[in-house]
Amino acid sequence: MCSMLAFLGPLAAMLLLQTAAGAVGRASYDYNVYHPFNEIDDWMSQILMDNPDMVSMERYGRTYQKRDINLIKIGERSGEMKKAIWMDCGIHAREWIAPAFCQYFIKQVLQEYRKGGKMVEMMKKLDFYVTPVLNVDGYVHSWLDNTTRLWRKSRSPGPPGCTCEGTDLNRNFNATWGTVGVSTNCCAETYGGTGPLSEPEAAAVTRYVGQRKEDFLCFLTIHSYGQLILVPYGNPNLTAPNYQELMTVGLGAADEMKKVHGKSYKVGTSPDILYPNSGSSRDWARLSGIPFSFTFELRDNGTFGFLLPQDQIQAACEEAYSGAMHIVRYVHSKQLNAAAAPAAAAASLWAALLATCVTAALAL
Ligand SMILES: [Zn+2]
Repeated sequence: MCSMLAFLGPLAAMLLLQTAAGAVGRASYDYNVYHPFNEIDDWMSQILMDNPDMVSMERYGRTYQKRDINLIKIGERSGEMKKAIWMDCGIHAREWIAPAFCQYFIKQVLQEYRKGGKMVEMMKKLDFYVTPVLNVDGYVHSWLDNTTRLWRKSRSPGPPGCTCEGTDLNRNFNATWGTVGVSTNCCAETYGGTGPLSEPEAAAVTRYVGQRKEDFLCFLTIHSYGQLILVPYGNPNLTAPNYQELMTVGLGAADEMKKVHGKSYKVGTSPDILYPNSGSSRDWARLSGIPFSFTFELRDNGTFGFLLPQDQIQAACEEAYSGAMHIVRYVHSKQLNAAAAPAAAAASLWAALLATCVTAALAL
């Protein structure tokens, strides 16, 4: 082998070794078990090494405990600014199926792209921005031992005088913050923080997505459990200007999900099918003008709850992928139509959509 590598020359030898390392990395990673954060971190680096033409990694924030918040961007290199799809997993620490799904999603998108077909066509117009673990501190804490397995919040200290830790990051976004379905008790699971964006994790998402909000067409945030697809808003006094369209797309996604393993997913606003809430990232995204914003609550319906057995990971991911891709395909074809229309007409369509959102935001 050594003499053969010498014959091929150093560059060819390096390529051979890289390919071998990549193949080993892919083969040895088990998508059907839950992984602690350090393994997910290594997996992200491996994905980057295996797919240098399609994948890049970006640190866009740091947690309270100074851990990096990284996203994986999947996209064809292109000179033009493309539209974008956002997905984050693991904003709530104990919902381990969510980070497992983001990893599956990244693997699957890359595999489909390599096979050609529809994914190649979509990726000419769209990039995916996927954060496998957003609440890194909380996720690490949930892996400590059995007593911390059901930890939900971040790990920042409470306000002065409070002995409890952690803020519910999905109550900390600047979207009717503090109004409903949130607690001011710092020991509660739904403590919303001292103010909107008091937490660095929520601030990081807001900053990153907010500075390019006209590029993000779709915002998907992945949770468990309950088998639900939630559309904006969590505050029952507000209705999204495109509520009907969101429901149609969400119901289409649920239909696709049911076809995979027969599981039913309900679709609706949080007050209609779960409970009212405020300060969620989903609501913030829609209020910011991102037209398609959904929360996925993955398996199950409460039999195992947050402790979904590992033998359900694959099935849960397969059905969720099918639902997510239904939404992505819809967004992609709408974008294509907008691009195909005369530029002025397309611009006025989006301007009208955004204007409606701004009106809604100002009414709060
Ligand atoms: Zn959650």
